[in-house]
Amino acid sequence: MKSDDPWFAACHEAGHATIALMLRLKFGYVAINGTQGKLILRPPKPELMDRPTYAEHFNLRHLKVTYAGMAAELKARGARCPNGLGDEQRERIRLGAAEDTEAAARIEARLSEKATSEALLWAGRQINRDDVWQAICALAQELITKEMLLYGDARAIVQPYGILP
Ligand SMILES: [Zn+2]
Repeated sequence: MKSDDPWFAACHEAGHATIALMLRLKFGYVAINGTQGKLILRPPKPELMDRPTYAEHFNLRHLKVTYAGMAAELKARGARCPNGLGDEQRERIRLGAAEDTEAAARIEARLSEKATSEALLWAGRQINRDDVWQAICALAQELITKEMLLYGDARAIVQPYGILP
């Protein structure tokens, strides 16, 4: 992703990482470099993805993680929406996710419209939770300092906020 301030990039990546931790999706590392960043999710075992129910469950979680980056970035930029997400914010998150990774469009295509809409609302609701947002900010702060965090490091930072399963 691209952004004009390292803090927004850090919040964006911390949003991906925090939701991935909440959904038990492992990643190798999360990193920022100036105003760009990335999170590398661990691919699921191919034999698991051969099972349709597992594949759908994995794809839904992956999509939520993808949406969470843009949702966190919007919140860091001051977007407020007490009742979840407005139409404009939803559109920006979808567009942001599509720019973020080709995977988002591919995953969306495999899921129903209803499932993707629910995933987007879910991601927005999580980002708007105070405890989740505090964890994201803590992670973003650490990313600004260290630039790269391994899965275990990120987990240790988020753990005290009581939001992990
Ligand atoms: Zn992203």
